[in-house]
Amino acid sequence: MPESLVDLEHQRNAILQQMLRMPDFRSGSITATRGTCGKANCRCHQPNQPGHGPNYRLTRKVNGKTVTETFATSAELHKAQREVETYHRFRQLAQELLEINEKICRVRPVEQELTPSKKKRRKSSSRKWLAK
Ligand SMILES: [Zn+2]
Repeated sequence: MPESLVDLEHQRNAILQQMLRMPDFRSGSITATRGTCGKANCRCHQPNQPGHGPNYRLTRKVNGKTVTETFATSAELHKAQREVETYHRFRQLAQELLEINEKICRVRPVEQELTPSKKKRRKSSSRKWLAK
């Protein structure tokens, strides 16, 4: 049995409510790198020694170019990790929102598009349109 319009609209509202409660988010991905430093006598240049790090950096695309950000403190890193995770959650919710909307579009009958909305301005204009 297909889902009713009311159910679908409730699901859509639930997603929108979750979006309203979302904290800050940003795109990008955080990766850890290890490497050697510039000091030739440092232990990191010895065989079988781990390099320095891990160093975390965030990369993201801006106008097609990859932009890299580094973090001065672990607090900055953790903040960015939360923001990036929230963005993934946002993307998931946006996909769900699109799917629900597509279902609503399929279920909603044509004549309901002219149902007066809660806005007074549209109410009067759609009434006029119907009376034509
Ligand atoms: Zn070193």
